[in-house]
Amino acid sequence: MGDLHPDLARVLISKDAIEKRVKEMAKQIRGDFKDTQRLYIVGILKGAFIFLADLTRELSELSMPHVVDFMALSSYGKSTESGAVRILMDLREPIENQHVLIVEDIVDTGHTLSYLYHILEGRKPASLHTCALVRKQRERLNVPLDYIGFDIPDVWVVGYGLDFADQFRTLPYVAELKREAYTR
Ligand code: 5GP
Repeated sequence: MGDLHPDLARVLISKDAIEKRVKEMAKQIRGDFKDTQRLYIVGILKGAFIFLADLTRELSELSMPHVVDFMALSSYGKSTESGAVRILMDLREPIENQHVLIVEDIVDTGHTLSYLYHILEGRKPASLHTCALVRKQRERLNVPLDYIGFDIPDVWVVGYGLDFADQFRTLPYVAELKREAYTR
């Protein structure tokens, strides 16, 4: 691994820790869905794409039948935390009677996941579950979160799919961005 970028404060979750936890999560999901014929996995772009790729390959190793589709969402105004979210790209297929698992990168206030959960719930899936790589430790909406990789402090994190202004997304670890990097 090269030197840490000067805008990064520290590595919060190492590549090895992520790899181990993703394997554990896949096992847990496999066990919970052992009687499910097919899982319909909904990845949330862009942030979840690396986590989703690793998780689904682990699920394949465990012979969990699944398909993958994507949605892209955008907040109207992050700073206001109004909770207003819009769909930039929707699923290609109806999910009625499907066993759906939402895969998110990060849950902060929970607005995004809560919005998405209610939209998808309205489409009458057979079941609806949620999974996120990281969750910030702070006040949030009461969203059902079934699978969670790591709890992290309330700092801005990047890497493993997570970005800051589209930078740092493909780092193999999750790192804390220095406060001065996003306040300047
Ligand atoms: P929420 O709606 O839960 O407050 O926020 C969720 C969205 O905000 C995430 O899907 C992500 O796009 C963004 N977000 C929140 N915290 C972070 C963070 O620490 N790093 C990055 N890269 N995105 C974040």
